[in-house]
Order: sequence, then C-alpha cells, then structure tokens
Amino acid sequence: MRKYNARKRILVTGGAGFLGSHLIDRLIARGDEVLCVDNLFTGAKRNIEHLLSHPHFEFMRHDVTVPLQVEVDQIYNLACPASPIHYQHDPVQTTKTSVHGAINMLELAKRLKARTFQASTSEVYGDPSVHPQTEAYWGNVNPIGIRSCYDEGKRCAETLFFDYHRQYGLDIRVARIFNTYGPRMHPNDGRVVSNFIVQALRGEDITIYGEGQQTRSFCFVDDLIEGFIRFMDLPRGENGAPGFPGPINLGNPGEFTIRQLAEMVIELTGAKSKLVFQQLPSDDPMQRQPDISRAREYLNDWEPRVQLREGLQRTIAYFDGLLSAG
Ligand code: NAD
Ligand code: UDP
Repeated sequence: MRKYNARKRILVTGGAGFLGSHLIDRLIARGDEVLCVDNLFTGAKRNIEHLLSHPHFEFMRHDVTVPLQVEVDQIYNLACPASPIHYQHDPVQTTKTSVHGAINMLELAKRLKARTFQASTSEVYGDPSVHPQTEAYWGNVNPIGIRSCYDEGKRCAETLFFDYHRQYGLDIRVARIFNTYGPRMHPNDGRVVSNFIVQALRGEDITIYGEGQQTRSFCFVDDLIEGFIRFMDLPRGENGAPGFPGPINLGNPGEFTIRQLAEMVIELTGAKSKLVFQQLPSDDPMQRQPDISRAREYLNDWEPRVQLREGLQRTIAYFDGLLSAG
C-alpha cells in the first residue's frame, strides 16, 4: 500500500535513456514523483545523475521483460533500444523488450487502473508507400528482415495496447514518434544525428549510408516531450470512459535528405570532414515524414517550434561539452 499523497506518482520505463530522461525532467519540474525503471542497456546514469538526490525521484535497475509490482498512478513505457545498431545487437531481446515489456506494463496498469503511454514509432510504417504518413496508413514492414525485431515488436506492442483498451477498458495513449534528436543522445548511439555531429567534432569523415538521398524528418527533443505530456494529460471521456487512445504521430514535418543533414552539420561545426559513402543497410526506409494533423487537432494546436538548424546548434553544443570533458 502506498502512502497517501496528492502528488502523482509516475513510472517511466527507459527513463535513463535519451527521451526518458528529458521526460522525467519535465515531470519533476511540474511537481510529480517519478519512478525511473531502466536496465541501463543503452541508457546512462549520467542522464539522471542530477536527479539522484531529488526527493521526488527514485531509480530502479530492472528489466521490463520481468514483471514489476509497484504502486503508481500513470505509466510511460519507453524502455526499448531505439538505434538500429543497438536493437540489432540482440534482436531476440529487442522483440522481448517490446512485447513482454508491453504485457508486463499493461498487466501492471490493469491492476492499478493506471493510464499508460506507449512510445511507439514511425517504424510501424516501415518503408512507406504513402507520403507523408498519416495514422490511417497500415505500413509496409518486412516481417523477417534485420529491422523487424524493432518494427514488428513495436507493432505487436500497439496491438497489445489496443486489445487491453478494448478488452479491459484500459486508458491508453499510443504515440508514433518520428526521428528525434537532441542533447543526451549517446555519443556511440549510431543514429544519424549523433554520428554526424560526433564525427564532425572529431574531424573524422562523415559516413553517409547509400547516396544520402533517403529522407528523414527530425524533431528536437523538447518539442516531442511537450507532445507526450499534452497527450497523456488529455482528460478521460464522458462518464469516466478512457480518453483518446491514439495513435498520434509526433514529429517535425520538416523533411531533409541525409546528405542535406551532413552538409548542415559540417557548416554549423565548421569541420573539415569529408563525406564518405558506405553501403545502405537493408530495409532502410527511403523516405519519412509525419502528417501531424491529428496531433494539432487533439493536442491543443501542438506544433514543433525548434527548426533543424537551431536544434542542431543546441545538440552540437552538448556534444562539444561532452567530448571536451573526455
Ligand atoms: P534510448 O536507447 O536512449 O533509451 C531507451 C532506454 O530503454 C535506455 O535507457 C535503455 O537502457 C532502456 N531499456 C532498453 N531495454 C530495456 C529493458 N529490457 N528493460 C528496461 N530498460 C530497457 O532511446 P530513446 O531515443 O530515448 O527512445 C526511447 C523510446 O522512444 C524507445 O521506446 C524508442 O523505441 C522510442 N522512439 C524513439 C525515437 C527517437 O527518435 N528517439 C523514435 C521512435 C521511437
Ligand atoms: N545514416 C547514415 N549515416 C550514419 C547513420 C545513419 O547515413 O552514420 C542513415 C541511415 O541509413 C538512415 C538515416 O541515416 O537512412 C537515419 O538513420 P537512423 O539510424 O538515425 O534512424 P532510422 O533509420 O531508424 O530512421
């Protein structure tokens, strides 16, 4: 039995990761209590170090594939490696993290009647044949490729969330997140923004996979977290019915080729790095851009505010500090 307290107690899985740690900062700043659960596979204590002595913050090292018994009011389920090199390192564990992790969080939520947020992904659209992607598009995912552990794991997690919603009336919020970047990405994360910035700051060649004509739409982390919180805070429906479950696309519709991104990073860092072209990994999506009409409509005109150039400057400043500190 937990102590009586008017303050909300919120579980954030994957809270020591890039997005999770930013989310926790926002929740703590507004007065919530946070229980951060993470196995530190890709996350880092460094991301939550500043919170460790905070009276409203608690860290628990735990793997979400194992059931969890805690008392909380809300759950944000973010635990899952997000970078292709990390999620492909142990693909079976990646699928387990998404699927068993979802089941464990949903069972917990069912017992507690707690509203639960799922960090889903634009990868549910695979290599999309519809552009930009709306939530109505069912996607084009290879079920047996090297990205499938992540894509299909996240698709199955969405299925579980919607079945718990329909079958048990659980209050769920499913967000489909598009490529997001910012401070606290891991320097060896392997994702394109951190790779390019770290390479440029070290004066190394910039590695473009394929010809760099594939596109992505990059969202700055602060904009994304604002979207998470607005979505989670949407009130329940009439007579206590669950609120809007989504899915809702969250991302910045500004679309760039990977080559344009590389050129912008070189310009902003003033690096002398050359562009080198390496093999495009299999099943790498050729284009990606969110249609965010639904987010605008439901989330009180939510809109990304930080343009790529400004977001990159802030991210470069972070990596510059991190690399010079050794
Ligand atoms: P991240 O790798 O920085 O964070 C993931 C966190 O989950 C890490 O702290 C890691 O240690 C933890 N984790 C992994 N497996 C776990 C397990 N089995 N048990 C407990 N903890 C575990 O990645 P991120 O960018 O912060 O992504 C957070 C979530 O958002 C992920 O679910 C990811 O799929 C989703 N997402 C992110 C993006 C993006 O662009 N950043 C895009 C789409 C979806
Ligand atoms: N990419 C690249 N060089 C890198 C890392 C990634 O050209 O050093 C490409 C990658 O092939 C993909 C895009 O950048 O086309 C985005 O990759 P990331 O891993 O960041 O995200 P995702 O593919 O999951 O959207």
